[in-house]
Amino acid sequence: MVEVAEEATYVRHHKQKLVLVLSGMRHFAADLRRERGARVDYVSLEDPGNTGSFTGELLRAVARHRPDRVVVTEPGEWRVWEMMRAWGEALEVPLEIRDDTRFLCPRSVFARWAEGRAELRMETFYRAMRRRTGFLMEGREPAGGRWNFDRDNRRRLPADHAVPRRLRFAPDAVTRGVMALVARRFPDHFGELEAFGWPVTRAEALDALRHFVEACLPAFGDYQDAMRADTPFLYHGLIAPALNLGLLDPEEVCRAAEAAYRRGGAPLNAVEGFIRQIIGWREYVRGLYWARMPDYAGTNALSAGRDLPWFYWSGETDMACLAGCVRDTRVHAHAHHIQRLMVLGNFALLAGIAPAQVEAWFLVVYADAYEWVELPNVHGMALWADGGLLGSKPYAASGAYIDRMSDYCGDCAYDVRARAGPGACPFNALYWNFLIAHEARLRHNPRLAMPYRTLARMSAARRAEITADAGRFLASLGNAPAAAPPRAP
Ligand code: SF4
Repeated sequence: MVEVAEEATYVRHHKQKLVLVLSGMRHFAADLRRERGARVDYVSLEDPGNTGSFTGELLRAVARHRPDRVVVTEPGEWRVWEMMRAWGEALEVPLEIRDDTRFLCPRSVFARWAEGRAELRMETFYRAMRRRTGFLMEGREPAGGRWNFDRDNRRRLPADHAVPRRLRFAPDAVTRGVMALVARRFPDHFGELEAFGWPVTRAEALDALRHFVEACLPAFGDYQDAMRADTPFLYHGLIAPALNLGLLDPEEVCRAAEAAYRRGGAPLNAVEGFIRQIIGWREYVRGLYWARMPDYAGTNALSAGRDLPWFYWSGETDMACLAGCVRDTRVHAHAHHIQRLMVLGNFALLAGIAPAQVEAWFLVVYADAYEWVELPNVHGMALWADGGLLGSKPYAASGAYIDRMSDYCGDCAYDVRARAGPGACPFNALYWNFLIAHEARLRHNPRLAMPYRTLARMSAARRAEITADAGRFLASLGNAPAAAPPRAP
């Protein structure tokens, strides 16, 4: 096992993400030695002689151990996949690349499913996965007679609703050591370390799963789209960092959720919504990533080219929703899916931020972000940069959506109900400006029929007012220096 500087710095990952991965590796190596009696050759980040790259360390390890073959698991990023393919030529022994068992749908199975389809819709893939895995199935039919209970999962959180206290994990001596290392070696990386509470061992990850299923899953469905400024985690799983790291297995996670439904411990809308995230969305975006890379990352269907505003790093903006989401991200290396999609992603979509810059940001800042999951979610779902391969419509929304699903607007310098003028919520003008700017491309999309009917009824003067307001706001954003490193705000 090897800790390499190149993987820690090819983008400047959030400090908590580095701690999670490095502490997880160190605990895993100790468990292998203690529980399985394995011999582990472990090269730590600061070992003298560490070359700092996968390739350099592989060649050194081969020289040390003189193996008759090298066996690796397929990686999570195209960048490393290309690196691995070059190893085949650099090594004098055979290289075997095995399927990644952190997923239920091997790349080859997804490729067969995708072959010849013009549209790769998640819902179609998800139904195939339900049949394949048997989760929430009653014979050939879905439990409850419906495949998808999403329309039951959009409730607003009442102001006096008490959310359970979430299980977090106090750093042990190993994690504290890694926190000190990260603070010293990577001081300029984005994010704070103080609130680190992610599971770093298999035992902790299982505790996190148990806590979620017992305390949070019953209400997860109802409130999965809600946002509250002072309660970042709400009922969300908080298990993606452990799942993507390999501390949890997707099958056991779904089995635990289904068992809660079968024993009457959680309603179907919650369990179906959760299982869809795991065997549907998670497997689907990963399959799509491998099926369409490397060309996928280069598309830019809406010709978005603006620089990422600096407040994505600093949180310094009068827009309370964006400031709140950046704050949660900085403190916890986490924001839940609606914060990511409908606030941070939505703003980037409406403002026309260059996809590559938005994607680099999302890859840096979240503890669960690896390119296989980050890129399709941001490029396809949030920014519609693939022109609709992944999402049937751009997820554009005005301030009304954020107001309906959160309590951000009450504390904002802007007025979410105002339609025009400098005090009006910027999401409002940006939303209509987006629809105007992309009218030729989007007005025939059936899922956007309603807003385009509204737009058609607007006077030329109102349209001109929207364009002027949006233009003024965008001009006021200022641009982040193109190659600026993320700084610790
Ligand atoms: Fe965000 Fe607009 Fe609400 Fe302010 S008023 S919090 S900018 S949606």
